[in-house]
Amino acid sequence: MSKILVVDDIKDNITLLSFDLEDDGHEIITAHNGEECLAMACKERPDLILLDIMMPVMGGKEALTHLKADEDLKDIPVIMVSANDGDEEIISALDIGAHDYVAKPFVYPILAARIRSALRLKRSQEDLQEANEALEKLASYDSLTNAYNRRQFFNLAEAEFSKSKRSQQPLSLIMLDVDKFKAVNDNYGHSGGDQALIDLTNLCKDICRSSDIFSRFGGEEFVICCPNSDIQGAHGLAERLRVATEQNITLADGNEIKFTISLGVTCVQAEDESLELALNRADLLLYEAKNSGRNQVVIDH
Ligand code: GH3
Ligand code: MG
Ligand code: MG
Repeated sequence: MSKILVVDDIKDNITLLSFDLEDDGHEIITAHNGEECLAMACKERPDLILLDIMMPVMGGKEALTHLKADEDLKDIPVIMVSANDGDEEIISALDIGAHDYVAKPFVYPILAARIRSALRLKRSQEDLQEANEALEKLASYDSLTNAYNRRQFFNLAEAEFSKSKRSQQPLSLIMLDVDKFKAVNDNYGHSGGDQALIDLTNLCKDICRSSDIFSRFGGEEFVICCPNSDIQGAHGLAERLRVATEQNITLADGNEIKFTISLGVTCVQAEDESLELALNRADLLLYEAKNSGRNQVVIDH
């Protein structure tokens, strides 16, 4: 069932048309001039508007112009229904953005077919928009943990890198890797390992600031880009993440899983010509943390 807004200043026209439309299973709402049409469209968000042209207070073309200029209403298809069907009227209504134009007196089955066609188009546009949003999400987020993926990390962190160069504000990077994760998989199965990565992501996201860019870099390795954080600030964050992970217990298939993380922390330096240079440094620091016994944070020295 679709919700159709019928706009006409002559009540009999609305009544007649409403009978047919309701017979076809539509829900009908009505307005008697352009102003009422805009108010109803805002309030009721109809799927389609049938709009008369000649009306007092505000005519159909003016209402159409307002509808098409409104970001929230512009995608509602509008079919102009008018006795005033000179060529100029039809052309200008279509140019303003009307989906279609039907001259009065109309043959109802033809109007009904045009309504079906407009509703089909609107539905396929909505499907397309949904598919685009899903695709956008797929392209930016890791499907297991819902953290940003590597690609989106570089998109966002490169922008922060340029911003920090311009503004001289500090920017820090934290590389994080789960310790002995192979053993987690060996002991609790791959699904236990997956749950551990999901829990770790949620824990880290809770502790990070909303401006921090927390991303899955690959496997059990994560990276955080921290805008406006100097090395002390990033060190503090890394240490809080380490302690929280050590204290956290993941539950998977009734098993308690405990694990630790190692972290390398660096602050972008004036001589870092690229984000990669700073990331490589964070990576080396992470490996120092691994070689020094794991479950620890190593910072620039
Ligand atoms: P280290 O302390 O040196 O980092 O040891 P590690 O065992 O964590 O490191 P290693 O790189 O040898 O092993 C990483 C393991 O992570 C191996 C791989 O199968 C596992 N892994 C990577 N991605 C996933 C995933 O999405 N889910 C699960 N369950 N395991 C993963
Ligand atoms: Mg590891
Ligand atoms: Mg690893």
